[in-house]
Amino acid sequence: MKKLFTHENRMIVYNMKNVLAEEGFETVMMNEFIGGGVGDLPTFDTWLELWIEDENRFEQAQGILQQILQGGDREGWFCRGCQEQNDASFRICWNCGRSYE
Ligand SMILES: [Zn+2]
Repeated sequence: MKKLFTHENRMIVYNMKNVLAEEGFETVMMNEFIGGGVGDLPTFDTWLELWIEDENRFEQAQGILQQILQGGDREGWFCRGCQEQNDASFRICWNCGRSYE
């Protein structure tokens, strides 16, 4: 197991997991059930982490994440739940977690 990605915004980590799952990567979430309550400041310790099962595919998975993080020239989409703009590579809204429709 190797740590692939972490971010203070859990929705972004969930999105990465979804994207990698679609690409056939086995990943595991760490700190999924830890974290402050509403109103608490998030700390680095409780950032959601995404780990990959198969270390041999680590670099391949990293490449996919990099593509997502850098965005592309594809058009994004606006969430129907909260109207936030999302990158085209996101399957769920980074802000409220609603899935792309
Ligand atoms: Zn939203």
